[in-house]
Amino acid sequence: MDKLLHFINGEFVPSENGRFFENINPATGEVLSLVAEGGRAEVDRAVRAARAAFKTWGRMPVAKRSQILNRLADLIEQHLDELARLETLDTGKPLSLSKSLDIPRAAYNFRFFADYVKGLGTEAYATDDIALNYAVRHPVGVAGLISPWNLPLLLLTWKVAPCLAAGNTCVMKPAELTPTTATKLAELAKEAGLPDGVLNLVHGFGPDSAGAALVEHPDVNLISLTGETTTGKAVMAAAAPTLKRLSFELGGKNPNIVFADADLDDCIETTIRSSFANQGEVCLCGSRIYVERPLYDEFVSRLAARTRQLVVGDPFDPKTDVGALISEEHLLRVEGFIERAVRDGARILVGGKRPSHLSRGYYLEPTIIVDVAPHCEIVEQEVFGPVVTVQPFDTEDEVVAMANDTHYGLSATIWTTNLKRAHRVAAQIEAGVIWVNTWFLRDLRTPFGGMKQSGIGREGGMHSFEFYTELSNVCIKL
Ligand code: NAD
Repeated sequence: MDKLLHFINGEFVPSENGRFFENINPATGEVLSLVAEGGRAEVDRAVRAARAAFKTWGRMPVAKRSQILNRLADLIEQHLDELARLETLDTGKPLSLSKSLDIPRAAYNFRFFADYVKGLGTEAYATDDIALNYAVRHPVGVAGLISPWNLPLLLLTWKVAPCLAAGNTCVMKPAELTPTTATKLAELAKEAGLPDGVLNLVHGFGPDSAGAALVEHPDVNLISLTGETTTGKAVMAAAAPTLKRLSFELGGKNPNIVFADADLDDCIETTIRSSFANQGEVCLCGSRIYVERPLYDEFVSRLAARTRQLVVGDPFDPKTDVGALISEEHLLRVEGFIERAVRDGARILVGGKRPSHLSRGYYLEPTIIVDVAPHCEIVEQEVFGPVVTVQPFDTEDEVVAMANDTHYGLSATIWTTNLKRAHRVAAQIEAGVIWVNTWFLRDLRTPFGGMKQSGIGREGGMHSFEFYTELSNVCIKL
Protein backbone atom coordinates (compact mmCIF):
# COMPACT_ATOMS: atom_id res chain seq x y z
CA MET A 1 0.00 0.00 0.00
CA ASP A 2 1.39 3.45 -0.97
CA LYS A 3 2.13 5.79 1.91
CA LEU A 4 1.90 9.54 1.34
CA LEU A 5 4.13 11.57 3.67
CA HIS A 6 4.49 15.21 4.64
CA PHE A 7 7.15 17.23 2.83
CA ILE A 8 9.07 19.39 5.28
CA ASN A 9 12.34 21.19 4.61
CA GLY A 10 12.96 19.23 1.43
CA GLU A 11 12.30 15.76 2.91
CA PHE A 12 9.38 13.38 2.97
CA VAL A 13 8.61 12.57 6.62
CA PRO A 14 5.90 10.71 8.54
CA SER A 15 3.97 12.23 11.46
CA GLU A 16 5.71 12.26 14.82
CA ASN A 17 2.96 10.06 16.25
CA GLY A 18 3.12 7.69 13.25
CA ARG A 19 -0.59 8.11 12.45
CA PHE A 20 -2.04 7.55 8.95
CA PHE A 21 -5.53 7.85 7.47
CA GLU A 22 -7.01 6.09 4.45
CA ASN A 23 -7.38 7.74 1.04
CA ILE A 24 -10.34 6.22 -0.83
CA ASN A 25 -10.88 5.90 -4.59
CA PRO A 26 -14.42 7.29 -5.06
CA ALA A 27 -14.93 5.33 -8.28
CA THR A 28 -14.52 1.99 -6.47
CA GLY A 29 -14.63 2.63 -2.72
CA GLU A 30 -11.23 0.93 -2.40
CA VAL A 31 -8.33 2.26 -0.34
CA LEU A 32 -5.80 3.93 -2.64
CA SER A 33 -3.13 4.87 -0.12
CA LEU A 34 -2.39 5.68 3.49
CA VAL A 35 -1.76 9.33 4.25
CA ALA A 36 0.30 10.70 7.13
CA GLU A 37 -2.05 12.52 9.49
CA GLY A 38 -0.41 15.78 10.47
CA GLY A 39 -1.20 18.00 13.43
CA ARG A 40 0.37 20.82 15.42
CA ALA A 41 3.83 19.22 15.59
CA GLU A 42 4.15 18.81 11.81
CA VAL A 43 2.71 22.25 11.09
CA ASP A 44 5.16 23.79 13.51
CA ARG A 45 8.13 22.05 11.90
CA ALA A 46 6.93 23.07 8.44
CA VAL A 47 6.41 26.70 9.47
CA ARG A 48 9.89 26.85 11.00
CA ALA A 49 11.39 25.46 7.79
CA ALA A 50 9.43 27.96 5.71
CA ARG A 51 10.53 30.84 7.94
CA ALA A 52 14.20 29.87 7.64
CA ALA A 53 13.93 29.51 3.84
CA PHE A 54 12.20 32.89 3.53
CA LYS A 55 15.46 34.66 4.35
CA THR A 56 17.05 33.56 1.08
CA TRP A 57 14.06 32.87 -1.20
CA GLY A 58 12.54 36.29 -0.49
CA ARG A 59 15.79 37.98 -1.55
CA MET A 60 16.60 35.81 -4.54
CA PRO A 61 16.69 37.77 -7.83
CA VAL A 62 13.26 37.65 -9.45
CA ALA A 63 14.63 36.22 -12.70
CA LYS A 64 16.12 33.28 -10.79
CA ARG A 65 12.90 32.56 -8.90
CA SER A 66 10.98 32.81 -12.12
CA GLN A 67 13.35 30.36 -13.82
CA ILE A 68 12.86 27.74 -11.08
CA LEU A 69 9.07 28.09 -11.23
CA ASN A 70 9.12 27.77 -15.02
CA ARG A 71 11.17 24.60 -14.61
CA LEU A 72 8.48 23.29 -12.26
CA ALA A 73 5.88 24.06 -14.95
CA ASP A 74 7.98 22.07 -17.44
CA LEU A 75 8.09 19.11 -15.06
CA ILE A 76 4.33 19.19 -14.49
CA GLU A 77 3.86 19.10 -18.26
CA GLN A 78 6.33 16.22 -18.60
CA HIS A 79 4.36 14.29 -15.95
CA LEU A 80 0.96 15.12 -17.44
CA ASP A 81 -0.18 11.51 -17.87
CA GLU A 82 0.91 10.42 -14.40
CA LEU A 83 -0.54 13.48 -12.64
CA ALA A 84 -3.83 13.21 -14.54
CA ARG A 85 -4.13 9.55 -13.57
CA LEU A 86 -3.46 10.36 -9.90
CA GLU A 87 -5.97 13.23 -9.93
CA THR A 88 -8.64 10.99 -11.40
CA LEU A 89 -7.94 8.21 -8.89
CA ASP A 90 -8.30 10.66 -6.00
CA THR A 91 -11.34 12.59 -7.23
CA GLY A 92 -13.36 10.25 -9.47
CA LYS A 93 -13.42 12.90 -12.23
CA PRO A 94 -13.11 11.80 -15.87
CA LEU A 95 -9.50 11.30 -16.94
CA SER A 96 -10.26 13.39 -20.02
CA LEU A 97 -10.94 16.36 -17.72
CA SER A 98 -7.83 15.83 -15.59
CA LYS A 99 -5.79 15.68 -18.79
CA SER A 100 -7.35 18.64 -20.57
CA LEU A 101 -8.02 21.01 -17.67
CA ASP A 102 -6.64 20.23 -14.21
CA ILE A 103 -3.04 19.37 -14.95
CA PRO A 104 -2.36 21.70 -17.91
CA ARG A 105 -3.78 24.59 -15.86
CA ALA A 106 -1.56 23.65 -12.91
CA ALA A 107 1.49 23.97 -15.17
CA TYR A 108 0.17 27.19 -16.68
CA ASN A 109 -0.42 28.70 -13.21
CA PHE A 110 3.34 28.47 -12.58
CA ARG A 111 4.25 29.78 -16.01
CA PHE A 112 1.80 32.65 -15.82
CA PHE A 113 2.83 33.96 -12.39
CA ALA A 114 6.55 33.27 -12.97
CA ASP A 115 6.38 35.57 -16.00
CA TYR A 116 3.98 38.13 -14.50
CA VAL A 117 6.20 38.77 -11.46
CA LYS A 118 9.00 40.03 -13.68
CA GLY A 119 6.87 43.01 -14.73
CA LEU A 120 5.62 44.01 -11.27
CA GLY A 121 5.96 47.73 -10.59
CA THR A 122 4.89 50.19 -7.92
CA GLU A 123 3.94 53.84 -7.59
CA ALA A 124 6.11 56.96 -7.33
CA TYR A 125 4.94 60.52 -6.52
CA ALA A 126 6.92 63.73 -6.54
CA THR A 127 5.40 66.05 -3.91
CA ASP A 128 6.19 69.30 -5.75
CA ASP A 129 9.85 70.08 -5.04
CA ILE A 130 9.52 69.00 -1.42
CA ALA A 131 9.77 65.24 -1.49
CA LEU A 132 9.91 62.13 -3.64
CA ASN A 133 7.81 59.15 -2.63
CA TYR A 134 8.20 55.69 -4.03
CA ALA A 135 6.70 52.40 -2.92
CA VAL A 136 8.73 49.22 -2.58
CA ARG A 137 7.12 45.83 -2.86
CA HIS A 138 8.16 43.03 -0.47
CA PRO A 139 7.07 39.43 -0.01
CA VAL A 140 4.99 39.05 3.15
CA GLY A 141 6.55 35.95 4.72
CA VAL A 142 5.15 32.49 5.39
CA ALA A 143 1.83 31.59 3.79
CA GLY A 144 -0.59 28.83 4.78
CA LEU A 145 -2.30 27.56 1.62
CA ILE A 146 -5.44 25.49 2.24
CA SER A 147 -7.15 23.90 -0.74
CA PRO A 148 -10.30 21.88 -1.52
CA TRP A 149 -10.83 18.52 -3.21
CA ASN A 150 -12.73 19.43 -6.36
CA LEU A 151 -9.88 20.74 -8.57
CA PRO A 152 -7.02 19.70 -6.29
CA LEU A 153 -3.82 20.55 -8.14
CA LEU A 154 -5.34 23.34 -10.22
CA LEU A 155 -6.56 25.29 -7.18
CA LEU A 156 -3.53 24.54 -5.03
CA THR A 157 -1.11 25.80 -7.69
CA TRP A 158 -3.33 28.86 -8.26
CA LYS A 159 -2.14 29.80 -4.75
CA VAL A 160 1.37 28.33 -4.65
CA ALA A 161 2.51 29.93 -7.92
CA PRO A 162 1.89 33.63 -7.08
CA CYS A 163 2.87 33.02 -3.45
CA LEU A 164 6.32 31.72 -4.38
CA ALA A 165 6.77 34.02 -7.37
CA ALA A 166 6.35 36.99 -5.03
CA GLY A 167 9.11 35.61 -2.77
CA ASN A 168 7.06 34.11 0.05
CA THR A 169 7.51 30.59 1.34
CA CYS A 170 4.59 28.30 2.11
CA VAL A 171 3.03 25.41 3.93
CA MET A 172 0.38 23.67 1.83
CA LYS A 173 -2.52 21.83 3.44
CA PRO A 174 -4.37 20.01 0.63
CA ALA A 175 -7.84 18.60 1.18
CA GLU A 176 -7.72 15.34 3.11
CA LEU A 177 -9.79 13.63 0.39
CA THR A 178 -7.28 14.45 -2.38
CA PRO A 179 -3.72 14.38 -1.06
CA THR A 180 -1.89 12.73 -3.95
CA THR A 181 -1.07 15.34 -6.58
CA ALA A 182 0.07 17.78 -3.88
CA THR A 183 2.57 15.13 -2.77
CA LYS A 184 3.76 14.70 -6.34
CA LEU A 185 4.05 18.49 -6.67
CA ALA A 186 6.43 18.54 -3.70
CA GLU A 187 8.58 15.88 -5.38
CA LEU A 188 8.67 17.83 -8.65
CA ALA A 189 9.42 21.10 -6.84
CA LYS A 190 12.54 19.51 -5.40
CA GLU A 191 13.52 18.22 -8.83
CA ALA A 192 12.99 21.71 -10.28
CA GLY A 193 15.57 23.07 -7.85
CA LEU A 194 13.29 24.82 -5.38
CA PRO A 195 15.44 25.31 -2.25
CA ASP A 196 14.52 23.22 0.80
CA GLY A 197 11.92 24.80 3.04
CA VAL A 198 10.40 27.07 0.37
CA LEU A 199 7.50 24.72 -0.26
CA ASN A 200 6.28 22.45 2.54
CA LEU A 201 3.34 20.11 2.69
CA VAL A 202 1.41 18.90 5.73
CA HIS A 203 -1.39 16.39 5.22
CA GLY A 204 -4.32 16.19 7.56
CA PHE A 205 -7.83 17.32 8.35
CA GLY A 206 -9.24 20.81 8.82
CA PRO A 207 -10.89 21.55 12.17
CA ASP A 208 -8.84 20.64 15.29
CA SER A 209 -6.12 19.28 13.01
CA ALA A 210 -3.46 20.40 10.54
CA GLY A 211 -5.69 23.08 8.93
CA ALA A 212 -6.57 24.72 12.22
CA ALA A 213 -2.95 24.50 13.43
CA LEU A 214 -1.79 26.36 10.33
CA VAL A 215 -4.41 29.09 10.72
CA GLU A 216 -3.56 29.58 14.41
CA HIS A 217 0.22 29.43 14.06
CA PRO A 218 1.72 32.75 15.22
CA ASP A 219 4.50 32.68 12.63
CA VAL A 220 2.20 32.30 9.60
CA ASN A 221 1.50 35.70 8.01
CA LEU A 222 -1.12 34.88 5.38
CA ILE A 223 -3.83 32.31 4.88
CA SER A 224 -5.31 31.63 1.46
CA LEU A 225 -8.29 29.29 1.66
CA THR A 226 -10.52 27.83 -1.01
CA GLY A 227 -13.37 25.93 0.56
CA GLU A 228 -16.85 26.16 1.98
CA THR A 229 -18.32 29.38 3.29
CA THR A 230 -18.67 27.83 6.76
CA THR A 231 -14.95 26.98 6.68
CA GLY A 232 -14.17 30.60 5.77
CA LYS A 233 -16.07 31.77 8.83
CA ALA A 234 -14.22 29.35 11.14
CA VAL A 235 -10.85 30.29 9.63
CA MET A 236 -11.54 34.01 9.95
CA ALA A 237 -12.35 33.63 13.64
CA ALA A 238 -9.30 31.43 14.27
CA ALA A 239 -7.01 33.84 12.40
CA ALA A 240 -8.19 36.90 14.35
CA PRO A 241 -5.94 36.53 17.42
CA THR A 242 -2.84 36.66 15.20
CA LEU A 243 -4.43 39.14 12.75
CA LYS A 244 -3.49 37.27 9.59
CA ARG A 245 -3.97 38.53 6.09
CA LEU A 246 -6.77 36.44 4.52
CA SER A 247 -7.86 35.52 1.02
CA PHE A 248 -11.01 33.43 0.72
CA GLU A 249 -12.55 31.72 -2.32
CA LEU A 250 -15.72 30.16 -0.92
CA GLY A 251 -18.99 28.59 -1.99
CA GLY A 252 -21.37 29.62 -4.76
CA LYS A 253 -24.96 29.15 -5.87
CA ASN A 254 -24.64 30.66 -9.27
CA PRO A 255 -27.48 31.80 -11.52
CA ASN A 256 -27.52 30.82 -15.19
CA ILE A 257 -29.94 33.29 -16.82
CA VAL A 258 -31.35 32.44 -20.25
CA PHE A 259 -33.29 35.10 -22.19
CA ALA A 260 -35.64 34.07 -24.98
CA ASP A 261 -33.32 35.55 -27.64
CA ALA A 262 -30.38 33.33 -26.62
CA ASP A 263 -28.48 31.24 -29.16
CA LEU A 264 -30.08 28.04 -27.91
CA ASP A 265 -27.70 25.50 -29.46
CA ASP A 266 -24.69 27.13 -27.84
CA CYS A 267 -26.59 27.76 -24.62
CA ILE A 268 -27.71 24.13 -24.20
CA GLU A 269 -24.23 22.70 -24.84
CA THR A 270 -22.59 25.17 -22.48
CA THR A 271 -25.30 24.70 -19.87
CA ILE A 272 -24.63 20.96 -19.93
CA ARG A 273 -21.04 21.77 -18.97
CA SER A 274 -21.88 24.49 -16.45
CA SER A 275 -24.32 22.10 -14.78
CA PHE A 276 -22.53 18.75 -14.81
CA ALA A 277 -18.81 19.25 -15.54
CA ASN A 278 -16.70 17.60 -12.85
CA GLN A 279 -19.96 16.01 -11.50
CA GLY A 280 -21.21 19.51 -10.72
CA GLU A 281 -18.43 19.80 -8.16
CA VAL A 282 -17.20 23.18 -9.39
CA CYS A 283 -17.75 26.32 -7.34
CA LEU A 284 -18.64 28.12 -10.59
CA CYS A 285 -21.34 25.68 -11.73
CA GLY A 286 -24.58 27.41 -12.71
CA SER A 287 -26.88 25.38 -10.51
CA ARG A 288 -29.83 27.80 -10.59
CA ILE A 289 -31.10 28.04 -14.16
CA TYR A 290 -33.64 30.78 -14.94
CA VAL A 291 -35.30 30.75 -18.37
CA GLU A 292 -37.51 33.45 -19.88
CA ARG A 293 -41.01 32.02 -20.11
CA PRO A 294 -41.47 31.96 -23.93
CA LEU A 295 -38.40 29.72 -24.19
CA TYR A 296 -38.96 27.70 -21.01
CA ASP A 297 -40.66 24.56 -22.43
CA GLU A 298 -38.30 24.21 -25.37
CA PHE A 299 -35.23 24.85 -23.20
CA VAL A 300 -36.28 22.32 -20.58
CA SER A 301 -37.07 19.61 -23.09
CA ARG A 302 -33.78 20.11 -24.97
CA LEU A 303 -31.72 20.26 -21.78
CA ALA A 304 -33.42 17.10 -20.50
CA ALA A 305 -32.82 15.22 -23.77
CA ARG A 306 -29.15 16.21 -23.82
CA THR A 307 -28.70 15.34 -20.12
CA ARG A 308 -30.11 11.84 -20.69
CA GLN A 309 -27.34 11.27 -23.26
CA LEU A 310 -24.54 11.89 -20.73
CA VAL A 311 -22.51 8.81 -19.90
CA VAL A 312 -22.00 8.24 -16.18
CA GLY A 313 -19.34 5.76 -15.26
CA ASP A 314 -15.72 4.71 -14.95
CA PRO A 315 -13.63 7.89 -14.95
CA PHE A 316 -10.92 6.11 -16.95
CA ASP A 317 -13.29 5.26 -19.81
CA PRO A 318 -12.86 7.89 -22.57
CA LYS A 319 -16.61 7.81 -23.22
CA THR A 320 -17.44 8.93 -19.66
CA ASP A 321 -18.89 12.41 -19.22
CA VAL A 322 -19.71 12.26 -15.52
CA GLY A 323 -17.55 10.36 -13.04
CA ALA A 324 -17.97 9.57 -9.35
CA LEU A 325 -18.71 12.04 -6.59
CA ILE A 326 -15.89 12.62 -4.15
CA SER A 327 -17.07 10.40 -1.27
CA GLU A 328 -19.93 8.33 0.08
CA GLU A 329 -20.62 11.04 2.67
CA HIS A 330 -20.89 13.67 -0.06
CA LEU A 331 -23.13 11.44 -2.21
CA LEU A 332 -25.49 10.99 0.75
CA ARG A 333 -25.48 14.74 1.33
CA VAL A 334 -26.39 15.45 -2.31
CA GLU A 335 -29.12 12.79 -2.23
CA GLY A 336 -30.47 14.41 0.94
CA PHE A 337 -30.91 17.70 -0.95
CA ILE A 338 -32.83 15.91 -3.71
CA GLU A 339 -35.11 14.06 -1.25
CA ARG A 340 -35.95 17.24 0.63
CA ALA A 341 -36.62 19.12 -2.63
CA VAL A 342 -39.15 16.44 -3.61
CA ARG A 343 -40.68 16.58 -0.15
CA ASP A 344 -41.03 20.38 -0.65
CA GLY A 345 -43.07 19.74 -3.82
CA ALA A 346 -40.41 19.88 -6.54
CA ARG A 347 -40.37 17.40 -9.44
CA ILE A 348 -37.36 15.43 -10.68
CA LEU A 349 -37.35 15.73 -14.45
CA VAL A 350 -34.15 13.77 -15.11
CA GLY A 351 -31.91 11.63 -12.88
CA GLY A 352 -32.10 11.81 -9.11
CA LYS A 353 -30.88 8.23 -8.63
CA ARG A 354 -27.69 6.22 -8.43
CA PRO A 355 -27.10 4.64 -11.87
CA SER A 356 -28.29 1.03 -11.82
CA HIS A 357 -25.45 -0.24 -14.02
CA LEU A 358 -22.76 0.73 -11.47
CA SER A 359 -22.56 -1.56 -8.47
CA ARG A 360 -19.81 0.24 -6.56
CA GLY A 361 -18.42 3.77 -6.28
CA TYR A 362 -20.24 7.02 -5.45
CA TYR A 363 -22.14 7.79 -8.63
CA LEU A 364 -25.27 9.86 -9.19
CA GLU A 365 -27.22 10.46 -12.39
CA PRO A 366 -27.11 14.08 -13.61
CA THR A 367 -30.28 15.56 -12.18
CA ILE A 368 -32.68 18.29 -13.33
CA ILE A 369 -35.29 19.52 -10.87
CA VAL A 370 -38.29 21.66 -11.86
CA ASP A 371 -41.43 23.09 -10.23
CA VAL A 372 -39.44 24.34 -7.26
CA ALA A 373 -40.89 26.75 -4.72
CA PRO A 374 -39.03 30.11 -4.72
CA HIS A 375 -37.43 29.77 -1.30
CA CYS A 376 -36.89 26.05 -1.02
CA GLU A 377 -33.56 24.73 0.15
CA ILE A 378 -32.49 23.32 -3.23
CA VAL A 379 -32.57 26.85 -4.71
CA GLU A 380 -30.82 28.49 -1.79
CA GLN A 381 -28.08 26.10 -0.64
CA GLU A 382 -24.95 25.01 -2.47
CA VAL A 383 -25.43 21.32 -3.39
CA PHE A 384 -22.02 20.88 -5.08
CA GLY A 385 -23.15 17.90 -7.15
CA PRO A 386 -24.69 17.14 -10.57
CA VAL A 387 -27.99 18.76 -9.66
CA VAL A 388 -29.63 21.85 -11.19
CA THR A 389 -33.00 23.53 -10.83
CA VAL A 390 -34.78 25.23 -13.74
CA GLN A 391 -37.32 28.01 -13.11
CA PRO A 392 -39.19 30.31 -15.53
CA PHE A 393 -39.20 34.13 -15.30
CA ASP A 394 -41.19 36.90 -17.00
CA THR A 395 -39.22 40.13 -16.73
CA GLU A 396 -35.64 41.33 -16.52
CA ASP A 397 -36.24 42.96 -13.12
CA GLU A 398 -37.74 39.75 -11.79
CA VAL A 399 -34.79 37.59 -12.85
CA VAL A 400 -32.24 40.07 -11.49
CA ALA A 401 -34.04 39.94 -8.13
CA MET A 402 -34.14 36.13 -8.22
CA ALA A 403 -30.47 35.90 -9.17
CA ASN A 404 -29.44 38.22 -6.32
CA ASP A 405 -31.68 36.60 -3.72
CA THR A 406 -28.86 34.64 -2.11
CA HIS A 407 -26.07 35.22 0.36
CA TYR A 408 -23.61 33.91 -2.25
CA GLY A 409 -22.08 36.07 -5.00
CA LEU A 410 -19.48 34.06 -6.86
CA SER A 411 -20.43 33.88 -10.54
CA ALA A 412 -23.30 34.26 -12.99
CA THR A 413 -23.95 33.51 -16.63
CA ILE A 414 -26.23 35.53 -18.91
CA TRP A 415 -27.50 34.22 -22.24
CA THR A 416 -28.81 36.86 -24.66
CA THR A 417 -28.03 38.19 -28.14
CA ASN A 418 -29.13 41.68 -27.07
CA LEU A 419 -25.92 43.51 -26.21
CA LYS A 420 -27.62 46.34 -24.36
CA ARG A 421 -29.45 43.89 -22.16
CA ALA A 422 -26.25 41.92 -21.52
CA HIS A 423 -24.54 45.05 -20.15
CA ARG A 424 -27.62 46.17 -18.24
CA VAL A 425 -28.14 42.84 -16.50
CA ALA A 426 -24.42 42.24 -15.87
CA ALA A 427 -24.24 45.61 -14.11
CA GLN A 428 -26.96 44.56 -11.67
CA ILE A 429 -25.89 41.03 -10.82
CA GLU A 430 -24.13 40.69 -7.48
CA ALA A 431 -21.33 38.31 -8.47
CA GLY A 432 -17.56 38.61 -8.78
CA VAL A 433 -17.37 36.73 -12.09
CA ILE A 434 -19.98 37.27 -14.82
CA TRP A 435 -20.01 35.48 -18.17
CA VAL A 436 -22.12 36.49 -21.15
CA ASN A 437 -22.85 33.71 -23.66
CA THR A 438 -20.08 31.52 -22.26
CA TRP A 439 -18.91 29.81 -19.07
CA PHE A 440 -15.55 29.03 -17.45
CA LEU A 441 -13.65 31.11 -19.99
CA ARG A 442 -10.73 32.40 -17.96
CA ASP A 443 -7.97 34.91 -18.60
CA LEU A 444 -5.63 34.63 -15.62
CA ARG A 445 -4.99 38.38 -15.61
CA THR A 446 -8.59 39.14 -14.67
CA PRO A 447 -9.91 39.49 -11.10
CA PHE A 448 -11.39 36.25 -9.80
CA GLY A 449 -13.34 35.95 -6.56
CA GLY A 450 -16.68 36.24 -4.87
CA MET A 451 -18.93 38.96 -3.49
CA LYS A 452 -21.05 38.57 -0.35
CA GLN A 453 -20.39 35.25 1.41
CA SER A 454 -18.58 33.74 -1.59
CA GLY A 455 -15.23 35.14 -0.60
CA ILE A 456 -12.91 37.90 0.40
CA GLY A 457 -10.42 39.44 -2.01
CA ARG A 458 -9.59 38.67 -5.61
CA GLU A 459 -7.03 36.40 -7.22
CA GLY A 460 -5.54 36.55 -10.72
CA GLY A 461 -2.82 38.72 -12.26
CA MET A 462 -2.03 41.79 -10.17
CA HIS A 463 -4.76 40.91 -7.67
CA SER A 464 -2.85 37.84 -6.52
CA PHE A 465 0.28 39.91 -6.05
CA GLU A 466 -1.60 42.54 -4.03
CA PHE A 467 -2.34 39.74 -1.57
CA TYR A 468 1.07 38.08 -1.61
CA THR A 469 3.13 41.29 -1.27
CA GLU A 470 3.51 44.18 1.18
CA LEU A 471 4.21 47.77 0.17
CA SER A 472 6.37 50.21 2.04
CA ASN A 473 6.47 53.84 0.99
CA VAL A 474 9.82 55.61 1.04
CA CYS A 475 9.57 59.40 1.36
CA ILE A 476 12.75 61.34 0.64
CA LYS A 477 12.89 65.03 1.48
CA LEU A 478 14.41 66.89 -1.41
P1 NAD B 1 -13.95 22.52 2.87
O1 NAD B 1 -14.22 23.90 3.36
O2 NAD B 1 -14.57 21.40 3.59
O3 NAD B 1 -12.38 22.23 2.92
C1 NAD B 1 -11.45 23.03 2.23
C2 NAD B 1 -10.11 22.93 2.92
O4 NAD B 1 -10.21 23.57 4.20
C3 NAD B 1 -9.66 21.50 3.21
O5 NAD B 1 -8.27 21.41 3.01
C4 NAD B 1 -10.02 21.31 4.68
O6 NAD B 1 -9.25 20.35 5.33
C5 NAD B 1 -9.74 22.70 5.22
N1 NAD B 1 -10.47 23.04 6.43
C6 NAD B 1 -11.73 22.70 6.77
N2 NAD B 1 -12.04 23.24 7.98
C7 NAD B 1 -10.97 23.94 8.39
C8 NAD B 1 -10.68 24.71 9.55
N3 NAD B 1 -11.57 24.89 10.51
N4 NAD B 1 -9.47 25.29 9.63
C9 NAD B 1 -8.56 25.15 8.65
N5 NAD B 1 -8.77 24.42 7.55
C10 NAD B 1 -9.96 23.83 7.40
O7 NAD B 1 -14.29 22.54 1.34
P2 NAD B 1 -14.31 21.30 0.34
O8 NAD B 1 -15.47 20.44 0.71
O9 NAD B 1 -12.94 20.71 0.28
O10 NAD B 1 -14.56 22.02 -1.05
C11 NAD B 1 -15.83 22.34 -1.53
C12 NAD B 1 -16.16 23.80 -1.24
O11 NAD B 1 -15.16 24.64 -1.78
C13 NAD B 1 -17.46 24.24 -1.89
O12 NAD B 1 -18.16 25.07 -1.00
C14 NAD B 1 -16.99 25.05 -3.09
O13 NAD B 1 -17.89 26.01 -3.58
C15 NAD B 1 -15.77 25.68 -2.54
N6 NAD B 1 -14.89 26.09 -3.63
C16 NAD B 1 -14.79 27.42 -3.93
C17 NAD B 1 -14.00 27.84 -4.98
C18 NAD B 1 -13.85 29.30 -5.34
O14 NAD B 1 -12.97 29.62 -6.13
N7 NAD B 1 -14.67 30.18 -4.79
C19 NAD B 1 -13.31 26.89 -5.75
C20 NAD B 1 -13.46 25.54 -5.44
C21 NAD B 1 -14.25 25.16 -4.37
